[in-house]
Amino acid sequence: MSQIFDFYDYKNKVFSCNGVNLETIAKEVGTPAYIYSAEALVSNFNKLQKGLKGLNSLICFAMKSNSNLSVLRLLAEAGAGTDIVSGGELFRSHQAGVSAEKIVFSGVGKTKEEMKNGLTFQGKGIHSFNVESIAELFALNQVAKELHLKATVALRFNPDVDPKTHPYISTGIKKNKFGMDRAEIFNCLSHLKQLDHIRLEGISIHIGSQLLSLSPLKDAFERLAHLIEEIQHPIQFVDLGGGIGISYQLEQPPKIEDYCQLIHEVFGEKSKFNSKLKIILEPGRQISGNAGVLLTQILFRKQRRSQDFLIIDAAMNDLIRPALYGSYHEIVPIQAVHLEGKMKKTMVVGPVCESSDFIGKSRKLSQNLKSGDFLAILSAGAYGFTMSGQYNSRPRPPEVLIQNGNFRIVRKRESFEDLIQGELSSLRH
Ligand SMILES: *Cc1c(COP(=O)(O)O)cnc(C)c1O
Repeated sequence: MSQIFDFYDYKNKVFSCNGVNLETIAKEVGTPAYIYSAEALVSNFNKLQKGLKGLNSLICFAMKSNSNLSVLRLLAEAGAGTDIVSGGELFRSHQAGVSAEKIVFSGVGKTKEEMKNGLTFQGKGIHSFNVESIAELFALNQVAKELHLKATVALRFNPDVDPKTHPYISTGIKKNKFGMDRAEIFNCLSHLKQLDHIRLEGISIHIGSQLLSLSPLKDAFERLAHLIEEIQHPIQFVDLGGGIGISYQLEQPPKIEDYCQLIHEVFGEKSKFNSKLKIILEPGRQISGNAGVLLTQILFRKQRRSQDFLIIDAAMNDLIRPALYGSYHEIVPIQAVHLEGKMKKTMVVGPVCESSDFIGKSRKLSQNLKSGDFLAILSAGAYGFTMSGQYNSRPRPPEVLIQNGNFRIVRKRESFEDLIQGELSSLRH
């Protein structure tokens, strides 16, 4: 396990992160609580950065995977920009000190307000907009025209490759709503002359998430390279998206070195582009996924003949991935003594009134785990807190950052008052 989850392991028989005992945190900040390792985040980022050495590159962290300000600041200090998908993420990027020239704006449905905010961000505007349709291109041109500005654009190409991942997180097949096929791209190009406020400089792709093989990426990169040669337009940069998978269970995700090697081969010095293109990446999960865990406490054990239920204080509103995609998250006891002794098939469920509220099904867990014991739900650093909600009027958990052998709360636990903010507060009088 320590091989998969580099920064989390048992130390003196207690599950720990970078030497910090997670039981201490659970007792001090309460549960459920999201925990992130600063060392893991920076190390995952640096691995990618190192692999791209020799290329003119920019790594824009896909902040929809984890948008905590302290996490963003940490990555920004390490040199990262952000890949944003909303005005809210642009606002967060600003708060975290991410500079304008390192922000790319993705997403199929940007509003005019969001376009305006991107164009005027920090007085100079963001690096680029990844445009996903001809309608969006015209709308962006109009907004830029009203502001007497020019929008730097990458057209998002849908290369029609099957990334062989979960259908909900697959984005580069023709039938998806994302990007444009070859004909749509050419259609955009044919209208460029009328679009005085568009500066077309790039082509982008993003074929899906949690990719466990490089071969669909290789196909996509090659189709992208071919398209760039085909279009009679000077391209300055390619945005290769994100999507590299991580190990949740026993999956073997592609090695970062191999991924970078592939980028070098298709776009680097020895390629037909001779390193002339700037390379942008939008990794999310690969940086944040295994850097985080969700700490939880067992409320009750419910014994059944076929299997027991452990009812925990974290639920689908805190971590929705199992309910939404049927995703697997490893669940480990905080005390190593529970790794030994008699195991029983166990359903690990939350308190929410939905049968889809499970975190783990049929897990082999110690029969001795009981009310009051703590568990860690692993690989929860990506699409964990950011997808959380308040269903069942459950305040969202706090976020805790472990750094240099210490921990600090980087987002407070929500209060009951937070739940009703903005609702007829006069009712209380
Ligand atoms: C979600 C998303 C990403 C990040 O995906 P990961 O699988 O977390 O790396 C990158 N680019 C775009 C356009 C996205 O929508």
